[in-house]
Amino acid sequence: MSRVYNFSAGPACLPVDVLKEAQEEMLDYRGCGMSVMEMSHRSAMFQEIIDEAEADIRELMSIPDSYKVLFLSGSAHHQFAQVPMNLMKNGVADYIITGNWAKKAWKEAAKYGKANAVASSEDKNFSYIPDCSDLPIDEDADYVYICENNTIYGTKYHKLPNTKGKILVSDASSCFLSEPVDITKYGVYYGGVQKNVGPAGMCIAIVREDLITDDVLPCTPTIMKYKSQADKGSLYNTPNCWDIYICGKVFKWIKKLGGLSAMKEINEKKAEILYEYLDSSKMFRGTVAKEDRSLMNVPFVTGDKDLDAKFIAVAKENGLENVKGHRSVGGMRASIYNAMPIEGVAKLVSVMKQFEEENL
Ligand SMILES: *Cc1c(COP(=O)(O)O)cnc(C)c1O
Repeated sequence: MSRVYNFSAGPACLPVDVLKEAQEEMLDYRGCGMSVMEMSHRSAMFQEIIDEAEADIRELMSIPDSYKVLFLSGSAHHQFAQVPMNLMKNGVADYIITGNWAKKAWKEAAKYGKANAVASSEDKNFSYIPDCSDLPIDEDADYVYICENNTIYGTKYHKLPNTKGKILVSDASSCFLSEPVDITKYGVYYGGVQKNVGPAGMCIAIVREDLITDDVLPCTPTIMKYKSQADKGSLYNTPNCWDIYICGKVFKWIKKLGGLSAMKEINEKKAEILYEYLDSSKMFRGTVAKEDRSLMNVPFVTGDKDLDAKFIAVAKENGLENVKGHRSVGGMRASIYNAMPIEGVAKLVSVMKQFEEENL
């Protein structure tokens, strides 16, 4: 077996320990004679899996009882619609546009009501987070929406916007469980799991209980009502059982490392190795305003397309996969999520250094 260092933005690398455990349990989950993939979602055994997963994420994130944790089939894209359907009671919402994902969410919301773009960083290709201390928040806004970590552009809110008392909704897909968060600052905090938690096909939404009601937009399909899932413990439909199981293992893996504070320390160490080199390099440079840098996604360029392509090829030869940047930034992007070991980042930097020496 030979594993590469996978810098993909998502689906992304998973902890090897988690994959091994799943492998060991694949054919016979704890003596029941079947795989979790084959198990009834109404069985006691699966109930234990989902209950434990919920208890562990609640512990990790210190989620108060006044919030529900929903394991929702689908992806972050589903939330682009599900959020306005459930929350747009006045028919108004404010969006802060810091990249493609925020923009897509904003455009989707406009199908259901008045979606205002109250700030944007598009003028500089989304390379920074706008000043959000005094935004023109609509008096009637049902919520203010952000994409907290911008996967494509590599920016992160290091300070949450001043919502002037309005509910904050956050797409935290690419920074989910990367550091401690104060859930009480949000109405809805959600993430598609395939960036930093588990396999693609599920979204975890942490929703304040008072926002979970039958008072949703009339067009809302039953399955898209938060209340449908909240009332049934995320088992309204047949859930993505396999995903819940793997996410549960990742929660335990993070707990074993020491929880989210420890995870943050590790992530900071990894990011520092890369950013420090980028700041000293004469060939490579980061594309983002320093104060808004993400710990998870690090885009960088040489400024020369051919050189970028050459580097991506050299990286691949060295077992560093998926370092090609997103087309809207170009160059390279290293996604260094929780499961990327520090050795992977060190290897990337050593390959970059050597490449710089040989090609400058
Ligand atoms: C990847 C990503 C999405 C889209 O995820 P899907 O699973 O394809 O719906 C949305 N928001 C953010 C921040 C992402 O990183």
